Amino acid sequence: MVTIAVDGPSGSGKSSVSKAVAARLGLAYLDTGAMYRAATLWCVRSGVALDDTAAVAAAVRAMPLEMGVDPAAPGVALDGDDVAAAIRTTDVTAVVSQVATNLDVRDELRRRQRAIIADETVGGFSGGHGIVAEGRDITTVVAPDADARVLLVASEEARLRRRSLEVHGVADATSVEATRDQVLRRDRDDSTVSTFHVAADGVVTVDSSDLDFEQTVEAVLTVVERAAV
Ligand code: C5P
Repeated sequence: MVTIAVDGPSGSGKSSVSKAVAARLGLAYLDTGAMYRAATLWCVRSGVALDDTAAVAAAVRAMPLEMGVDPAAPGVALDGDDVAAAIRTTDVTAVVSQVATNLDVRDELRRRQRAIIADETVGGFSGGHGIVAEGRDITTVVAPDADARVLLVASEEARLRRRSLEVHGVADATSVEATRDQVLRRDRDDSTVSTFHVAADGVVTVDSSDLDFEQTVEAVLTVVERAAV
């Protein structure tokens, strides 16, 4: 069983890179950001006010969340309902940090994340070979003992451009500006509960600002090889 932990700020490319690394190595893939997004959607759909921290925590503890761990098609379901698209809307992105900075929510989701990572068969997917888990606090809190730990960073400019292309399909000045809140404000809020701009001891930083997608995947695979996992 190998565990590869990848953290990074918004727009660093960690989801697509982690998925590709998992697929190349025949490993399962866990998107922990999707769990915070699903928790947010669950609260909104349940009519729970996001500033009612106790009610949010209670709702998340009872949340019927199922995470798919196939890197080719990582599903997210709430009560059997496929919410993979619904959790990516700008409405959810705009408020997810409010749920993710709730410390009781973090305790509950970290508990579920550790259970998925420790699962010998990881949902029957990887045949017990292991998992790539990505997020903001995987290298530091959720899986500090992971076999390989990577912090994927990129310049502010590169991150805004990537997120703008992803959300608007273009990266002109207006679209980049519209993406600012989703990237920079969100990172600022998320930074109050996790450290993901500077690598912790033993975590290898990969800067993707001047790398294309394939080069970034190769750089992460090199870190994994050097860790001799
Ligand atoms: O990575 P993604 O943008 O999908 O993450 C959505 C949100 O989930 C982040 O903005 C952050 O608030 C939260 N998150 C977190 N800890 C993680 C992963 C994500 O707080 N390990």
